Amino acid sequence: MFRFYIIVACLSQLLSAETASSKLTNIDYHENNIVSLTFDDGPSNVTTGIILDILKEEKVKATFFVLGLQAKNNPKLIERIHNDGHEIGNHTYDHKNLSLLSAQGIRQQIEKTQEILKKQHLSVNWFRPPYGAGARRARTVADEFNLKTILWTVDTKDWQKSNPSSVEKSVDQYVQNGSIVLMHDTKRVTMEALRNIIHHLKKSKYTFVTLSERQKIVSERLKAK
Ligand SMILES: [Zn+2]
Repeated sequence: MFRFYIIVACLSQLLSAETASSKLTNIDYHENNIVSLTFDDGPSNVTTGIILDILKEEKVKATFFVLGLQAKNNPKLIERIHNDGHEIGNHTYDHKNLSLLSAQGIRQQIEKTQEILKKQHLSVNWFRPPYGAGARRARTVADEFNLKTILWTVDTKDWQKSNPSSVEKSVDQYVQNGSIVLMHDTKRVTMEALRNIIHHLKKSKYTFVTLSERQKIVSERLKAK
């Protein structure tokens, strides 16, 4: 079991490095530090609406990795996330650990969610496997749907915290230019921490970008090098 977690952790690091941070090293970022806030597991009819209110008030755009099941049950929230200018990514149908599924099982998880989102006329660019598990194999399947697989670089571990200041600290401590911050819009503690997280990042002159905006900026900056 322990070995399994090590492998998962290594793969996660590898993938996030490939898709995210390694591209950012050696890039001159004197101007405009960028950060991408990402919210997984929703939408929730308890907390997502309040998170959207805060993002709107603060004029911050984020990326929501939604579950197909939650999207099906909360179409109005999906519509609102989209209309508010946020990006929506695929986070499987019902949050299965993909390292335990066959390729066909993974395909079904992704496809079911794509179909639900397509019914709402959304174009989806990103896929994030639950727990970051089985990411390497999941990426091959996600490619079939033209979805880019991406993990994160800053894990707030909000799912195991009850104190908002502890969630805030994990961002303050680990954020850097180009960071992808993992949070959950299903967590009350995240809702409570979000405004301070944004205020601290604004104070440090960060610009908030969705993952697609981030990718554009990163590739432009790489070209300029
Ligand atoms: Zn998740």
